[in-house]
Amino acid sequence: MTRHSSIKRGRSRLKTTKPLVSGKPISRGTKSLKSCAPIKTTKPIARGKPMSKKRKVKHTAKSKWVSLLPDRAVVIAELDRLTSLIVRARTPRCVTCHRTNNLTASHVFRRGVIDTRFDVDPGGNVTTQCAGENRTHSERPAKLLRWFIDNFGARKLSLLQKRYQANARVETWQLVETQVKYEAILATMPPEQIAIANERAFRG
Ligand SMILES: [Zn+2]
Repeated sequence: MTRHSSIKRGRSRLKTTKPLVSGKPISRGTKSLKSCAPIKTTKPIARGKPMSKKRKVKHTAKSKWVSLLPDRAVVIAELDRLTSLIVRARTPRCVTCHRTNNLTASHVFRRGVIDTRFDVDPGGNVTTQCAGENRTHSERPAKLLRWFIDNFGARKLSLLQKRYQANARVETWQLVETQVKYEAILATMPPEQIAIANERAFRG
């Protein structure tokens, strides 16, 4: 056996593409033998074995973060209340028959789509209607659609319809931010305006 092949066999853990040249220091220009030792890997976690401390901490932190956000259904219910109060306070009469009692928040496009459900902007999806007309709107939408086009234009209606049909996902944190924004809007309204909205509200 030559010296060359003996070195090769002895350094078999060194995965070099070039054969080692006899007489050349092994560590020069390449990794030392120590650093080329097999990498120590952590033992695989056995089934049934408790998670490592590090993993446990990470898992707990994630769970706590998720629980920090309020329940989505609770935020949606609160946003329904705030949305209704804002539109009725801004417009304390039915936009189609001008009645001033039994007022509700009416949705041009059904409230099932979250992205347009709390749209209180002028020309948005929510406005004031009396309870009677709100109830019949889904079967006979022409009256409210006519009012919308007369006030905001057909283009705005078309854009609103596209948003409604796109049904974009709204994350819970976005709903929470909308809630904070709506609470701020109501805080800037004169108390008597809020009082009128409450007096004229439908109490079915
Ligand atoms: Zn009405």
